[in-house]
Amino acid sequence: MSVCLPEKDCSLCPRLVQFRKENQKKFPTYHNAPVEPFGSLDARILIVGMAPGLNGANQTNRPFTNDYAGDVLYPILKKFGFAKGNYDRRKDDGFELIDVRVTNAVRCVPPQNKVIGDEAKTCGRFLAEEIAAMDNLKIILSLGTVSHNAVLRVLGYRQSDYKFAHGVVHRLPQHGIVLLDSYHTSRYNINTGVLTYEMFNAVIEKLCRLLNGAD
Ligand code: SF4
Repeated sequence: MSVCLPEKDCSLCPRLVQFRKENQKKFPTYHNAPVEPFGSLDARILIVGMAPGLNGANQTNRPFTNDYAGDVLYPILKKFGFAKGNYDRRKDDGFELIDVRVTNAVRCVPPQNKVIGDEAKTCGRFLAEEIAAMDNLKIILSLGTVSHNAVLRVLGYRQSDYKFAHGVVHRLPQHGIVLLDSYHTSRYNINTGVLTYEMFNAVIEKLCRLLNGAD
């Protein structure tokens, strides 16, 4: 096992393993295994989503790739200079992240896109390794409460001291990093207006200010 990377047949979450087996039969061309993070461990920014989408990252083996959430996330990252190349919903599209790494709190696709029980806690060992391996890490952008709580848990902070709220910056003193919250860029959140493009744009503007020490 290499750093932050579970075995392809990781069996730690029985429900997700069962779903993986079903999908291997139903979608034999899909990746159908824990999804690899995207971007360098040298990055200063780590973006943490919830879990792979069935027809997105679970198919392509790249977080947020080939699903709606990536269609929102990646163009905005490129707009702010955190990516180059053309995002084309494929792992081999040549799209590259700059100073950013993207991962998920849970590496395997969950049924109905819902993480339950101890799944995030169980998969947290990989997130913990990933964060520990990022020597230049300054900012973690959590997309949604599952990833927010997962980050706090693996770093040893109490969730009651750092409540999730869109656009809020949490300074994590023992680690010298900040945790910035955003609603997830999911189709549901965009369609219902919970998150707009303008709101997400403002979050990335804030991220830039934090990175430059101006916020
Ligand atoms: S979600 Fe994480 S811990 Fe659970 S089976 Fe997948 S890789 Fe293993």
